[in-house]
Amino acid sequence: MKITAIIGFGFCGRLAFLHLVKKAEKTKILIFEKNGPDALGAAFTSFSPHYILNVPAIKMSAFSNAPRDFCEFLEKKYPQIWSEIGENGFAPRRIYGEYLDELTKQAFVDANKNGVEFEFITEEVTSIEKNFVINQKFTADRVLLATSFAQSALPANPLDVMLNLSKHDSGQGLESCFDRLSMTSRRTVEKLWDENSHQFHEQKFSNETMCLIGSGLTAVDVIVGLKKKNFEGKIFVISRRGNFPKKHFAQIQANPNFISASDAKSGMLFLCLKIRNFLRQNPQFDLRHVVDSIRPITTSLWQNFDQKNKKLFLRLSPYWNIFRHRAPISSVQLIEQMIERGQIEICKKGVKKISEENGKILVETKEEKIVCDLVVNCLGFEFKAEKYPLFAQMLAANLLKKDLLLVESNHPQIHLLGGLNIGRDFECTSVPDLRVTVENLL
Ligand SMILES: Cc1cc2nc3c(=O)[nH]c(=O)nc-3n(C[C@H](O)[C@H](O)[C@H](O)COP(=O)(O)OP(=O)(O)OC[C@H]3O[C@@H](n4cnc5c(N)ncnc54)[C@H](O)[C@@H]3O)c2cc1C
Repeated sequence: MKITAIIGFGFCGRLAFLHLVKKAEKTKILIFEKNGPDALGAAFTSFSPHYILNVPAIKMSAFSNAPRDFCEFLEKKYPQIWSEIGENGFAPRRIYGEYLDELTKQAFVDANKNGVEFEFITEEVTSIEKNFVINQKFTADRVLLATSFAQSALPANPLDVMLNLSKHDSGQGLESCFDRLSMTSRRTVEKLWDENSHQFHEQKFSNETMCLIGSGLTAVDVIVGLKKKNFEGKIFVISRRGNFPKKHFAQIQANPNFISASDAKSGMLFLCLKIRNFLRQNPQFDLRHVVDSIRPITTSLWQNFDQKNKKLFLRLSPYWNIFRHRAPISSVQLIEQMIERGQIEICKKGVKKISEENGKILVETKEEKIVCDLVVNCLGFEFKAEKYPLFAQMLAANLLKKDLLLVESNHPQIHLLGGLNIGRDFECTSVPDLRVTVENLL
């Protein structure tokens, strides 16, 4: 019997299992998950009950052919929340985790019914050899890598890391400085998405001074969570550009479809001019409409770019991300009010040094020194393949090869699921895209 190994049992790993069970293929499935059977991945782990999804309920079904599946779960299990938010609202992350868990439990039952053999192994996979021996103990015929990304360690600049151009002024020194600091201090949350950051999410704060590094969706989560716990202290947000994500539209919009995938052949400059001219002539639209109209063709657009234009596109990706990764309107309004009241202060700078002084944390940028009680890492994904022990080993074994952004498979029986395909697809981050990559493969 053929053996399929699923590495990582978050959203994509669980979906892969579901689809394999449904097909009732004569295969044995080995599931590897470093955080055990209850792990749901960083996005849907039951951190704080105050954190909400950043994608509307109607887009969060695990199945593209059953778009109301999550809404129906919500309506049945949490009628009160359903009546408050409806299909265009944002459900608590915790509830989405329950949804995933329920689907998985049913798949375990179906597997037993359909005679699909499976084994759950709570282990971090650190090596897959050329002969498909996993962690030197288990053998497989096919490997599905669903490990997703880890959070960037401070002080990475995601774009520099992506392009491997890192001439970051703080460089190696700060990273090691920060590592030393977190060992001696409880005043740093170095990896916000890790299981062991629970204490931070559960903790009650009142009047402290916080310093968040990064201003993306993770920072939005943290700010909304703090405010729901009646936090009255000051929040410094340090980020190079100081931009928070834009808010979702209140209603579904008609998008202007004026860009096609073949435009990529004319290059980035042409595309930028086309967008600028369009916005000048159509002031009723903004960049969110433009990004939304590009979304369905982002992958083909990306794949049509040559290497030079892909790099140019990446240079603009911090701006793309702001308009692309939206936050709920309520969250953005809350942040706007906090900025107006002076509770949030944005520093558009890179961090140069973080140190501990008299029981406080000193965060230094080029021009400022911020004294705070707690530093929270709100940076995004780590794009450096070498930082992942498994990828580093598989690259050395020639089972993976590097691409412009991360890695790609170098073997017909190794498949990357979900966001790991960023170099191939560019856009594959949230549930509506992820579910399709799994469905297309299985
Ligand atoms: C904080 C955060 C919030 C997000 N919010 C949303 C949202 O609201 N809506 C949305 O659609 N998307 C959201 N996303 C995007 C999100 O990444 C996906 O929706 C989804 O969870 C990714 O699925 P995945 O299976 O690729 O990764 P994950 O669900 O993260 O699963 C990866 C799993 O692999 C395990 N693992 C990793 N390495 C190994 C190894 N070497 N060996 C064994 N196990 C390993 C991990 O423990 C983890 O359980 C969010 C992402 C983050 C980080």
